[in-house]
Amino acid sequence: MKLGIVGLPNVGKSTLFNSLTKAGAESANYPFCTIDPNVGVVAVPDGRLQQLADLYNSAKVTPAVIEFVDIAGLVKGASKGEGLGNQFLANIREVDAIVHVVRCFEDTNIIHVDGSINPMRDIETINLELIFSDIEILERRAAKTARGARNDKTLAKELNFLNRLKEWLEEGKMAINFETEDEEEEAWLPTYNLLTGKPVIFAANVQEGDLADDGISNSYVQQVRGFAAENRSEVFVICAQIEQEIAELEEDEKKMFLEDLGLEESGLEKLIKASYSLLGLISYLTAGETETRAWTIQKGTKAPQAAGKIHSDFERGFIRAEVVNYQDLLDCGAYSAAKEKGLVGLEGKDYVVKDGDVILFRFNV
Ligand code: GDP
Repeated sequence: MKLGIVGLPNVGKSTLFNSLTKAGAESANYPFCTIDPNVGVVAVPDGRLQQLADLYNSAKVTPAVIEFVDIAGLVKGASKGEGLGNQFLANIREVDAIVHVVRCFEDTNIIHVDGSINPMRDIETINLELIFSDIEILERRAAKTARGARNDKTLAKELNFLNRLKEWLEEGKMAINFETEDEEEEAWLPTYNLLTGKPVIFAANVQEGDLADDGISNSYVQQVRGFAAENRSEVFVICAQIEQEIAELEEDEKKMFLEDLGLEESGLEKLIKASYSLLGLISYLTAGETETRAWTIQKGTKAPQAAGKIHSDFERGFIRAEVVNYQDLLDCGAYSAAKEKGLVGLEGKDYVVKDGDVILFRFNV
């Protein structure tokens, strides 16, 4: 999974990005790798993994990972090529979801590019750039489709769809809210890879004092929440500055620090939860002496396709899956004991994998 961090300059993107990648590197013992200065890979915190690894005495623990891309440089006019605009927009096209950082903190020392704190205006500024860029994509696509539509009926229908979609965006609306009329249109939409069609998680960046009540007393945060609710988006409240401090701490200090702030989890954990929920993702686990590992799949994925995440041979030669819930397995203390109690299910190709399933796949090579 790949998440792109966007937002106006000076809202706290780099601070958040740095704290996330740093925290991820330490929290789960994952070899943090910097692909380039703007891309970081972080481990998905998952307490179940270590418990299973202890049970199996695993030599290696491998968490699921999320890739973050810090997409700086998205400014007013980016879609017209201002700054390095178009290049940044191309980076966003590659991500699964967008983390939109919005400044909800007051600090006279930190200049706001538009002179005042106003999250709704900021969101609109960024969204307009995304919309302009999408309109350009649709115009190009429509021109190409129009050429073919003269003697192809399907293309004529798609051209009509492209034009309706373009008009929608021209009204300042996002593709994610566009109502398609039938399955054919529904299938076309993702093929355009529109920026405004991607799921969005708003990171409301607040001052430290607003953390304890999750931003309820901060009216800016409430505005962001209202906007998100109308646009199928998630919101999570963070203080990027505090996250940076937390990321510097040792594991036990971290817990105390969070408790002092009245928090149960760090911003990284909140963000990962929000992305999993927004993207409809779950994790299943594999466990053994060599490795205990978490795998990310879409909710509703069936056993063979889940197996395919490990290796395409597993999917092709799938025979069955031996499945036990991780808590049942831990309670029994051993796989054999869980089997004796009838807690290990033998599942076929129609089995829908659940979050927390520990799975052993049987397959033909
Ligand atoms: P970017 O341009 O969006 O990447 O913003 P930066 O992460 O570079 O942050 C801009 C400035 O705001 C820096 O001086 C940060 O230290 C500061 N900053 C970031 N987050 C917070 C916050 O939560 N509270 C306060 N007061 N300052 C912050």
